[in-house]
Amino acid sequence: MKNATIAGAGLVGSLWAVYLAKRGYKVDIYESRTDLRKANLSAGKSINLALSDRGWKALEKVGLGDEIRKVAIPMYGRMIHALDGSLTHQPYSVNGDAIWSVSRGGLNCVLMDLAEAQGNVDIHFNHKCTGVDLETGSATFSERNSGEKVMTEPGLLFGTDGAFSAVRKAMQRTDRFNYQQEYIEHGYKELSIHPNEDGTHKIEKNALHIWPRGEFMLIALPNLDGSFTCTLFHPYGGEVGFDALDTDEKVVDFFKSTFPDAYELMPHLLDDWHENPTSSLVIIRCFPWTKNGKVALLGDASHAIVPFYGQGMNAGFEDCTIFEKFLEETNEDWPTAMKLYEEERKPNGDAIAELAMRNFVEMRDLTGDPKFLLQKQIERKFAKLHPGKWMPLYAMVTFTDIPYAKANNRGKFQDAIMEEIMAMPNIEDNWDSDEVMSAMLEKLG
Ligand SMILES: Cc1cc2nc3c(=O)[nH]c(=O)nc-3n(C[C@H](O)[C@H](O)[C@H](O)COP(=O)(O)OP(=O)(O)OC[C@H]3O[C@@H](n4cnc5c(N)ncnc54)[C@H](O)[C@@H]3O)c2cc1C
Repeated sequence: MKNATIAGAGLVGSLWAVYLAKRGYKVDIYESRTDLRKANLSAGKSINLALSDRGWKALEKVGLGDEIRKVAIPMYGRMIHALDGSLTHQPYSVNGDAIWSVSRGGLNCVLMDLAEAQGNVDIHFNHKCTGVDLETGSATFSERNSGEKVMTEPGLLFGTDGAFSAVRKAMQRTDRFNYQQEYIEHGYKELSIHPNEDGTHKIEKNALHIWPRGEFMLIALPNLDGSFTCTLFHPYGGEVGFDALDTDEKVVDFFKSTFPDAYELMPHLLDDWHENPTSSLVIIRCFPWTKNGKVALLGDASHAIVPFYGQGMNAGFEDCTIFEKFLEETNEDWPTAMKLYEEERKPNGDAIAELAMRNFVEMRDLTGDPKFLLQKQIERKFAKLHPGKWMPLYAMVTFTDIPYAKANNRGKFQDAIMEEIMAMPNIEDNWDSDEVMSAMLEKLG
């Protein structure tokens, strides 16, 4: 049997193991953490992620879609919470498309179960990658408790060990390897809204809630147990930044004045605040993603991005779809498939990194801006009238598998048109007139 080693049994590593197992490989995954499935995940809070079409496609390809759908909640739009407590629902698409809230830990557990169920996948927990031989495609893993070292057979080695990948670190020491790491100004803290006593959700279940406040924002995604996981994305510095919120009183004052309706739903705010760390957000860009036709990076190891488009995991899952496509096309010629994979994915990784940063501005600032909302309304009307001619950027990224770079370019072209449309006289009153719709059609050419 053919052998493959994977470093990291996170979301992407577990899924990639299923792909390799289905190709007939004996797969050994080495994971530095203990087995998540043995920890008590149902203890209330869980960190959740938005799963969208690219992720679903990768899961469906290996028959995992139905299993995951059982533990996911559809969110059909954004629910915007203004400072005065008023709510606005912004549907994600004209077709009723949804993004899906899934528990990160829950999804990871299901994926590990499904990987092991293939019969030819073994996961070795508490094994940290400490050395990589890029020439032979083998790696050394150190057992957490005993310190015992395991060296894998030469062959294929995949680094799915996340943003601070040990496999990538070995590649960084080779000639002409490009690497860039950038921390953004903002960090995040997980908070929560508990369920009602009867287990129902306290606010609309099928929406992604956003409290946009200019320089920062709070969001909330639903969980199956009736709770919401909230994330405060917030600068470290500044008058009310994380560093300045250094007493309970300041935290409470900040929430009362900035997110009054959310504050009412969070009687345990201070417990969460102290219990959960403030975490940083990093963007990683690097190239190449493969070495010697034997070693390859997938997921955050090759392209860690900020979470504002909800695409990090989706992009990592799409790496699996695209890699698989090239293995199919090359009849499993690994060196060629690896080259094709990195050449296709790199520009798309860069594009989603750029889009994710831009979407932060949209989420925290523009979702509360009447002009922005009017623009979205015009786009929706035009897309409905001419479905083949216009697709909002968000829909291209979230509800299709159009390559990210192509979606980004098309989005810029459409934005330039919208800038001119928004400058038309009396656009607020005429936005749905034939004149405006014809002008858009003409500008599209
Ligand atoms: C706040 C936040 C919100 C997010 N929201 C979304 C969202 O809504 N939608 C979305 O698509 N994405 C989202 N993301 C991004 C998403 O979490 C990541 O893109 C995704 O987890 C990447 O998966 P991965 O398997 O590549 O890496 P990881 O999930 O980081 O997994 C890496 C694994 O490797 C293991 N490991 C690390 N080092 C070693 C080593 N030396 N040896 C062995 N094992 C090792 C780790 O323990 C881990 O299990 C979000 C991220 C953040 C921070």
